[in-house]
Amino acid sequence: FRLKYKYEAATTMMQQYLDIKFANLDCLLLFRMGDFYEMFFEDAVIASQVLGIALTKRGKNGDEEIAMCGVPYHSLDTYLNKLIEENFKIAICEQLETPEEAKKRGGYKAVVNREVTRIITPGTVLEESLIVAHQPNYLASLVIMKNRASICLVDLSILEIFLVEIPESEVLNELARLTPKEILLSENHRTKQLTSDIVTQLRLRISYQVDSFFAYKKCHKITLDFYKIYDLKAIGELSDCQISSIGSILEYLSLTQKHNIPALPFPKIINYHNFMIIDSATRRNLEITSNLLGQTKGSILNTLDHTVTKAGSRLLYYFLSAPLIDIQEINHRQDITNFFYSHIPLVENIKKILKTTGDLERCLARITMNRGCGRDLLNIKYTLDAALRIKGEFVNHCGLNFPSYIEDLIKPLSGNEEISDLIDQAICEDAPSYLNEGGIIKHTYHPKVQQLYDLINNGKTHVEKLKHQYRLDTGIENLKISHNNVLGLFIEITARHNEKMSDNQFIHRQTTTNSVRYTTADLQKLESEMVNARSLVINLEVELYKKICSEVTKEAHILRLVANSLNNLDVFCNFAHIAYEYNYVRPVLVEDLNFEITKGRHPVVEQSLLCEKKTFVSNDCTLSQTNRIWLITGPNMAGKSTFLRQNAIIAILAQIGSFVPAASSKIGIVDKIFSRIGAGDDLMSGNSTFMVEMLETSAILAQSTARSLVILDEIGRGTSTYDGVSIAWAVLEYIHDKLKCRCLFATHYHELTNLSNFLPALENYTTKIEELEHEILFLHNIIKGTADKSYGIHVASLAGLPKSVIIRANDILLKLEKTGTNKGKNILKTETNNLSLFTLAPETPEDFKLQKLKEEINNIVADQLSPKQALDLIYKLKELA
Ligand code: ADP
Repeated sequence: FRLKYKYEAATTMMQQYLDIKFANLDCLLLFRMGDFYEMFFEDAVIASQVLGIALTKRGKNGDEEIAMCGVPYHSLDTYLNKLIEENFKIAICEQLETPEEAKKRGGYKAVVNREVTRIITPGTVLEESLIVAHQPNYLASLVIMKNRASICLVDLSILEIFLVEIPESEVLNELARLTPKEILLSENHRTKQLTSDIVTQLRLRISYQVDSFFAYKKCHKITLDFYKIYDLKAIGELSDCQISSIGSILEYLSLTQKHNIPALPFPKIINYHNFMIIDSATRRNLEITSNLLGQTKGSILNTLDHTVTKAGSRLLYYFLSAPLIDIQEINHRQDITNFFYSHIPLVENIKKILKTTGDLERCLARITMNRGCGRDLLNIKYTLDAALRIKGEFVNHCGLNFPSYIEDLIKPLSGNEEISDLIDQAICEDAPSYLNEGGIIKHTYHPKVQQLYDLINNGKTHVEKLKHQYRLDTGIENLKISHNNVLGLFIEITARHNEKMSDNQFIHRQTTTNSVRYTTADLQKLESEMVNARSLVINLEVELYKKICSEVTKEAHILRLVANSLNNLDVFCNFAHIAYEYNYVRPVLVEDLNFEITKGRHPVVEQSLLCEKKTFVSNDCTLSQTNRIWLITGPNMAGKSTFLRQNAIIAILAQIGSFVPAASSKIGIVDKIFSRIGAGDDLMSGNSTFMVEMLETSAILAQSTARSLVILDEIGRGTSTYDGVSIAWAVLEYIHDKLKCRCLFATHYHELTNLSNFLPALENYTTKIEELEHEILFLHNIIKGTADKSYGIHVASLAGLPKSVIIRANDILLKLEKTGTNKGKNILKTETNNLSLFTLAPETPEDFKLQKLKEEINNIVADQLSPKQALDLIYKLKELA
């Protein structure tokens, strides 16, 4: 931000603005003035463009006019959204007192005290409207030291903090899994390849900090201070790298959250070895949480997500991004899914009740950080009530005998009636979203609130009551209580009754020609209460509200257990619901290296075909130690990629605890899944397609273990055929002999099918095709054997290439096939059309001429030509040449 100003020439308020702006130069400063947040100078120019709001002026600074624009305070969220999208850091500067208070403090010229109360960045947003409800909102701090990296992550919206330590080489994969909204990283890494990959491949946002921000000693102290502990051992065994990442993230929170530093628990240390490793390319290729374009639509998450709460959806997102590898843990989840699958009516009822719950974790986080409102409390109450009803449903459906894993799951759902009752007694059903408007606390909750509202609503009656009382006390029938601007409320009697007014009750205020005016302590009190009732009641309500919040916060730990239980219920009911609706089965997980899927399906393709009223063709896949590699040949569009992906997806689904789209399945736990799929070409990173392919292949070969599942599609395609075949051949040999992992390999290089003669654990498969007279049908069946044709021209015709081009292509193909085989030059003895193309000279017009000429000459039967015919032929050949 550039700031052109003359400080001395500025008004006192502008000087205040400039002081604050100067302390927050990297932020767009939203400066609260009454009901608006105003922006000035360059900020105003930028914001007016980004937000599409009018740019105005506010006075002059020296000779220059001061640019200004502003947004109403109650619609701040809408504007924040756009600013955050555009990557701005936003400082919110609030008024700390009312103009009246300022005047009282420093005279009528005094400027209202202001302070930046919060800096908003993509990773520290809390507003419900600004965060994606079904995804975590992580802020990450990435520290790399000596080939190790530590990532500390905080989700402020649910007050979660955890740590992962990984080898530096795993950073990209881990970030792809976690997808933080903002990453804190040292300036020193700005020019590194890893940093550029984070930005271009993963499209994540980095907030660079000076290197000292991550200094170990400083971070160590910050962490001790934050948790108020004497030794970091209280958290666990932490490496220097981890301490730097925790300390720096805590520092960032205190810089951005100012006085509302959240009470975070100790960071959980996550062992990334507990999860199936899926690298970033594979995540993208399999379209796990987003499709190839980065949208949720068409992803596995989108197809599987029938959860009914946002928090449930977040948990499912988490499950999908981190499949388990421990067979016991997986079976534990499968048992739960199975329980719900056997109780579908219960599932449907639970889902109905879950729909009435609020986002407990996020409500709780807002309340803990003083950013909540009455609605958040109400949502907590509704959620607790729903939790209790859900528990009731279990008893209704299953009596009192549950398996222990269900017992554990539903235990936290009851026993929280105290909190629920407290909120019920105290908070109005229609509490507004702002605290400064009152209307939060029920009148019946506190006598003073009752009284003040009574005053606000029934002030007149109270005055009447007093009047009646004083008439009785004095015996003056025409005693009146009136009001004017000078005296406020006063008692008025005619002068002749004056001696009836007792001195110790009535205080004389004024004598006029006909009347005498009095007041009383009670009347003064009533009046001041009437005048102040509104602000008194608002203050009292806020005070009571805060007390209730602190009561609720005291139970945060228990409430988190409730939330956790509800989120899990949502996810497992979802698994059961999907299994039931889409016909999935429970997978059997085993420790060996088999992979036996009968009638497997691709969950996303199946659903999209269903929409078009088409059926998905299911396929078996049986890999074992003796038959580890399936080499699948077949034309394009025949379903090879789909088959490859569906098997990887089935493994993932099984290991997150979901049933799988198959008739039956037995899966030897997969530790890593790697995929290289032709279509996912990386246009963003600027690498050539072939380079990307080779980089990914190299990573696969370096990192796979015998437990891994590798799926490779069309590798080697980006180079010349000979190169391509050779690379694919060598890669297959390496996988077969060295890695010994399970592998599905799709290719259109038919030459590779010869490999089955040399590699015993490799078997050839192909896609079944039916050739009709004018048409070819892709049956999408994967069967044993090899493909004999590529049917490329058929696909081209399906794609709508002009008929003449198709006819010509067929023509050329026929000829090429003839030439290719006749020449017999092909080292690999191939019949593939692709390869044959390269065995010929390129097709120039000259070539066509020559070919035509050749054909004509070949057609000549010399002995049968008359001299005239021979002469004609010479003319024709000359023309052709
Ligand atoms: P390939 O990798 O062989 O080029 P794809 O796997 O991309 O082919 O499949 C092409 C299209 O064929 C898919 O978009 C899908 O509509 C359809 N398809 C693939 N597999 C099946 C199947 N098993 N059953 C029905 N349709 C399928």
